[in-house]
Amino acid sequence: MTDIPRVGFVSLGCAKATVDSERILTRLRAEGYEVVGSYDEAHLVIVNTCGFIDAAVEESLAAIAEALDENGRVVVTGCLGARAEVIRERFPQVLAVTGPHAEEAVMAAVHAHLPRRHDPRLDLVPAGGIRLTPRHYAWLKISEGCNHRCTFCIIPALRGPLVSRDPGEVLAEAETLVRAGVRELMVIAQDTAAYGVDRRYRHGFWNGRPVRARITDLARALGSLGAWVRLHYVYPYPHVDELVELMAEGVVLPYLDVPLQHASPRILRAMRRPADAGDMLRRIESWRRTCPELTLRSTFIVGFPGETAQEFDALLEFLRAAGLDRVGAFAYSPVEGAAANALPGAVPEAVKQERLERLMAVQAEISARRLQRRVGTRTTAIVDAVAGDGLRLGRSPAEAPEIDGVIRIHGCDAAPGERVEVEITGADAHDLEARPLVPASTAPGV
Ligand code: SF4
Repeated sequence: MTDIPRVGFVSLGCAKATVDSERILTRLRAEGYEVVGSYDEAHLVIVNTCGFIDAAVEESLAAIAEALDENGRVVVTGCLGARAEVIRERFPQVLAVTGPHAEEAVMAAVHAHLPRRHDPRLDLVPAGGIRLTPRHYAWLKISEGCNHRCTFCIIPALRGPLVSRDPGEVLAEAETLVRAGVRELMVIAQDTAAYGVDRRYRHGFWNGRPVRARITDLARALGSLGAWVRLHYVYPYPHVDELVELMAEGVVLPYLDVPLQHASPRILRAMRRPADAGDMLRRIESWRRTCPELTLRSTFIVGFPGETAQEFDALLEFLRAAGLDRVGAFAYSPVEGAAANALPGAVPEAVKQERLERLMAVQAEISARRLQRRVGTRTTAIVDAVAGDGLRLGRSPAEAPEIDGVIRIHGCDAAPGERVEVEITGADAHDLEARPLVPASTAPGV
């Protein structure tokens, strides 16, 4: 038994929460704590929770209960932690509760209950920090919180208003990640396109040069690092058109993850979202004219309070007309605290599920058709994993890790993180098959 303080860590929730976990883990390692994989070995356990929908709340409460049963000394952080009274009422014995994005408060709780060992030799941490993603890709969080008030969402209440990071700080972090071997940066925030609004687009400095705190300027600077840059959670503001131009120029990946949520103007207004589906279709057409290789991903909510059969049909019509490449859909979940819960016309659970299944069936055909069109084309793929002798799992610019399908590359011996030129040889509803065009060792890389 050593006297090194040992911490267990449970990380739940979305990519933004994962970034919070990575920051806390980095701090723990930097301060000489050992991060261990079992409750038995740990002196204390941190649970990073999610509070987005009811199912996530239940999962988080179950994780806290398990950590208390198995270990007994638990610090709770994350989105559910913003509702400390819920946790304190159910688990009065937890050592501390903090909200999301509260690295300092979590570390203060750890110091109070498990003092760090002073040993300067332990202050050795990998250059890119501790990450929960594979070595070759990383999430890059550029802001926290959100200024919108979508009626189905409690994130602004949990995470507060938009707070953008200094552009120089974001770029320095990105540079460190790329130097540490990251070949794909996934830019995230609650609302990526709003980056810098709260800073009034003030300049920061990177390598002595001014960089404006605006998403287009930040994307251009990130694109100069040589890694793939993928933009997630892009709210459909007018200036998204400028981002699509950067995609056409090859500065960032031609991949736009733009949550649209619905297509019926009345439902969109009730959601407090931009409400002109016809305009949205025209914009999608124009984005595709600007950047023909653009991949579009979106998310939608079905069964929002008051959604009629006609309004749901309008959503299906929109999907058929838009021909999006990938779609995620959710049945409306009346998460506690969401303004939409007060709206009349709650849709019965069975109807929500039936609509969800119909939407997914319609979109599955569209997605399959769009994947089929790629058979016979050539693309660059990044290898994510070895799946067997000569079989690699990879992705092209059109596939985001952990969200979209994969490309099964046959006859390939490249290592994870390498880029390979491939020809797409087949497609099913979600994934693609491919063969390499050139030996992996001669494919271009970062
Ligand atoms: S933009 Fe996103 S995070 Fe902000 S309120 Fe709407 S759904 Fe929530």
